[in-house]
Amino acid sequence: MASEAPNQEGWVEAKDEEALANVPVVTAQKWDGSAKVYQWNDEFGDVGPKFPDLEVELFGAPESRHEVAGLDFSRIEEIEVHQEGPRKIDPIGTFNGAGLHPVMLENVELCGYQTPTPIQKFTIPSILQGHDVIGIAQTGSGKTAAYLIPILSKLMGKAKKLAAPRPNPVTFREGIDGVCAEPLVLIVAPTRELAVQIFNEARKLCYRTMLRPCVVYGGIPVMEQINLLQKGCDILVGTPGRLVDSIQRPRVLTLRRLKHIVIDEADEMLDAGWEDDLQQILGGGEQDEGNVSFYLFSATFPKAARDLAKEYLAASHVRFRVGRAGSTTENIQQIVLQAEGHEKRDMLVKLLETNPGVRTIIFVNSRREADNLDAFLWNLGLPVTSIHSDRSQVEREAALRAFRAGTAPILVATGVTARGIDVPNVMHVINYDLPSIDHGGIEEYTHRIGRTGRIGHRGVATSLFSERDIDLASVLTRTLLETNQEIPEFLESYKPADTDRKHLKFETESDFDPNDVAGANDMGGAPAGDGSAPGWGSGEAQGEPAASGGWGASNGDAAAETGAWGSGGGDAVAADNAWGVAPDTTSKAPGGW
Ligand code: ADP
Ligand code: MG
Repeated sequence: MASEAPNQEGWVEAKDEEALANVPVVTAQKWDGSAKVYQWNDEFGDVGPKFPDLEVELFGAPESRHEVAGLDFSRIEEIEVHQEGPRKIDPIGTFNGAGLHPVMLENVELCGYQTPTPIQKFTIPSILQGHDVIGIAQTGSGKTAAYLIPILSKLMGKAKKLAAPRPNPVTFREGIDGVCAEPLVLIVAPTRELAVQIFNEARKLCYRTMLRPCVVYGGIPVMEQINLLQKGCDILVGTPGRLVDSIQRPRVLTLRRLKHIVIDEADEMLDAGWEDDLQQILGGGEQDEGNVSFYLFSATFPKAARDLAKEYLAASHVRFRVGRAGSTTENIQQIVLQAEGHEKRDMLVKLLETNPGVRTIIFVNSRREADNLDAFLWNLGLPVTSIHSDRSQVEREAALRAFRAGTAPILVATGVTARGIDVPNVMHVINYDLPSIDHGGIEEYTHRIGRTGRIGHRGVATSLFSERDIDLASVLTRTLLETNQEIPEFLESYKPADTDRKHLKFETESDFDPNDVAGANDMGGAPAGDGSAPGWGSGEAQGEPAASGGWGASNGDAAAETGAWGSGGGDAVAADNAWGVAPDTTSKAPGGW
């Protein structure tokens, strides 16, 4: 590939020439999984001292910390949260009133989280009270913290008693002082990048405690990870393959101390392809049966996954759902353009030209297409990089780093690689290929477009719809109607007779039967809504409206409040070099076609 600096109009001012020229070049560096964690010293009392340098590395510079902007919390009370299970959980209103460990409260504040998101309001008290939980909430609604905050907070007071002995980091000698890792918490995620992201959130929330987070994932030498595990590990995040591999080395990892298991992106993980690995992980531990709490989280939860979930969870688990399972948020403007295969490249270039300088993810359905498009856009001089499962882990991490940093603000990705990835200020998601119905279908669509419009911010998702995508037309049209999007003319014929969004039907609707759960008949209130909404299992759930307004967003005016879209969230890159140029939101078809 050419290494000259790109010269495309519009992208030019924003680039950092040197970094850009280096985007595809792999530079030797540490794995994301070897990032610094708080080093506990045996001499510390209950809480460790602050380390200012590490604090900046974990939470960013002090002046940028309280800028978790974009949320309009006045709307939050209007969001319907449905709960179901044998016990009614009273939601917390604030982090302060949640009964969290004081160090956890400080860490939450350092993260810049001022108010719990709707899902957090329910899962924090549930987990603190010891319930198994299923949490379904829209993409970008803070599900990671929804489980990490209560689990870690619970352990903070007890770490010294529960945690395995580990070498003193001050005197540690590699290969000599190592111990077997005996985590208290295991978090399983489907992709390497997501595992790293969860690890990073855990690094923050474990600050000043002896709880030591670690991550294991494929694509990097096993020995490197073993070396880290041997320093002790209380919170283990991992992808299934590498976890199974580690469990098979009993001197490296044992799950006998385990107290909490989280399955993130649970529906993806419960999908047939992962079953064996998951069985080995969940069944392979010597942990005391009944002593381990289970938590499943996702934004989508189709029926097959729901059936499987029941096998893992205690009968007394509680379930929370923010809006319809699988619904998208209204913060995302969804545009669908008709495009035949041969027109797609031109249309893509126009889309990029019309929305210059904004962080954009382009989804394709094959690794080859990802490589091809990456090369094509690179040759046009655009600051692009790509990520898919055929690329080496070094390349994948470098690509994501360049994308996050804004040196390569256009990322071409295959679907699964991007599950759960949280990059602030992704303003535009383009489905160059729409997901096919046998490869994820509408759930995959929901997850993909959910890379934008995160945590109350706004974003645009543009999909190129070709003849091949006809099978998706009906459910896509209903999805658009559900969130008040404009229906393009070529999809008009797929509109249901009754377009009232309260009456829309989705196969993905929850059908959990409350009678499956012991004593669960008294549940189903919607404490955050009007208190009368039905639980998942009730017949009425079929026709339920989506959460009104998409949570946290003041419809339509968030952009005005925060200035240009891309500059929201206090992102230094956006502010410094104008990557934050607002896309043209007035015309439904960017580029004027
Ligand atoms: P999800 O898993 O629901 O897609 P994430 O857990 O990835 O969402 O969180 C999305 C973003 O929201 C992250 O950048 C996270 O730091 C941020 N976040 C989480 N909780 C809060 C909160 N209470 N207030 C503000 N931002 C939050
Ligand atoms: Mg997530």
